[in-house]
Amino acid sequence: MTPSSMTPTIRHPLPDDLLLAYTTGSLPEAFNLLIATHLSLCDESRATVAAFDALGGALLDSLDADADPDGEAGLEAGLQAVLRRLDRTPPEPPVRPARRHAPGIFPAPLQDHVGGDLAAVRWRPVGMGVRQAILKTGPGARARLLYIPAGAAVPDHGHHGRELTLVLQGAFSDAGGRFARGDVEVADPEVEHTPTAEPGEDCICLAATDAPLRFRGLLPRLVQPFLKI
Ligand code: ZN
Repeated sequence: MTPSSMTPTIRHPLPDDLLLAYTTGSLPEAFNLLIATHLSLCDESRATVAAFDALGGALLDSLDADADPDGEAGLEAGLQAVLRRLDRTPPEPPVRPARRHAPGIFPAPLQDHVGGDLAAVRWRPVGMGVRQAILKTGPGARARLLYIPAGAAVPDHGHHGRELTLVLQGAFSDAGGRFARGDVEVADPEVEHTPTAEPGEDCICLAATDAPLRFRGLLPRLVQPFLKI
């Protein structure tokens, strides 16, 4: 068994509100890409998405078939019908994402997006030995691959919006804990951190942000517009 085909032990799965938003299709493409990639590595998050899918399907069926659309009585009847249906219907197997094992570091959804594995990535230096590759996605959020050499750190920063960081290789630590392959760190404007790669193995991450980062240091602030970070 190769390392990439083993299911890692995920200590930091995605929170339910993000998985629900993914299920309902209300997130920008960069977040969808990161979440689909995480689902390839995390049985727990995949089961949650399957449950949301089943619940949504049952709700729609029930509204079609059982509920009187008028008034609270209709709504109550609809909800009861959903609960009865969920009671007797085993959850459907997850339709998406397919759990395909891709050889290499990148899970299948990311390989599909990048057009290959690590070797297909064109890295650009961002300073302190850290490299990035911005991925093409739709509006509303940005996705980038980050390469943090073993023992190196991303400069101390806060966030103007939401930042999801999924580990693909190695591990990093910050005040929020230790994050290894398959784990996702969720940061928001409350969080300030200095993610530092563990010694011994270079750390590769997929990050998605819906607003620029807030760097403390002068140098990162100066180069920030050029790096679109
Ligand atoms: Zn951050």
